[in-house]
Amino acid sequence: MRVRALGSFSGGLDGMVAASVLRSQGIDVELATFESPFFSSREGKEAASRLGLPWRELDFTSEIMELLGNPPSGFGKNLNPCIDCHAGMFGILGRIAEEEGFDLIFSGEVLGQRPMSQNRNSLNRVARLSGCGRLLLRPLSARLLPETEAEEKGLVDRSRLLDISGRGRKRQVQLAEVFGFTYRNPGGGCLLTEPNYCSRLKVLMEIPGLLTPGRARLARYGRFFRLSSDTVCLVGRCEEDNTALESLARGEPTFSLEDVPGPTGVLIGDPSMLPELEVLVRKYAGVRD
Ligand code: SF4
Repeated sequence: MRVRALGSFSGGLDGMVAASVLRSQGIDVELATFESPFFSSREGKEAASRLGLPWRELDFTSEIMELLGNPPSGFGKNLNPCIDCHAGMFGILGRIAEEEGFDLIFSGEVLGQRPMSQNRNSLNRVARLSGCGRLLLRPLSARLLPETEAEEKGLVDRSRLLDISGRGRKRQVQLAEVFGFTYRNPGGGCLLTEPNYCSRLKVLMEIPGLLTPGRARLARYGRFFRLSSDTVCLVGRCEEDNTALESLARGEPTFSLEDVPGPTGVLIGDPSMLPELEVLVRKYAGVRD
């Protein structure tokens, strides 16, 4: 009977090596990338296709929105609740594994690669909180970690797993050559680790009832202004911003000038503040009243 593994996969080098290590043992590997207003599944999809492995997208929006309210394990340096986020993702993979008959779940995490979220305590905590820690294999550091169920049962050959630790990527780069795949340096990453974006998000979070997934997406674009205690707005800086704001506004009041090229503005909050938005749009269009 074939052994089946389902991986949490962002599309980076480590995940690609982890998937290749398992595949080289004859394991059937499938990959899943999580999507939310703060991180995209695009790179996971592209990298899975370069590896030629089956891939699926999993929506993590409601889980991450809830975690932002009160993450049990706290935030990292910015608004990134990494421990609970990882645990939640593995919890979802664990449930899928049970429903669909996967023998194990895995990730490209490396012991000691990130001081806060990938030290030994954090990896253990994530495994415990996920509720499916016994299923969870980290092929890149497996020989430095306790045996998982799949190793104990002989479904995975522990001696052919790796003992990588720390921040360096030298061995992963060498292994990419051995396995013969190309990889890209991570692009967008997670917005919850970006200070500028998080300062906007904090404002949305502190105004009761304002934060929704759609507004979290909007806040990625344009200039950001707080107009009053309960209202903010976004004003495009360039064509790309304007297009994004228009397509993401979905019901939020917007304003742009009809006869003059200029920015698109989007209001979030009290609609009676629309005149304030109009003033800003005129200002950045270079129009004098
Ligand atoms: S960096 Fe973002 S996506 Fe990754 S674990 Fe942390 S919060 Fe989740």
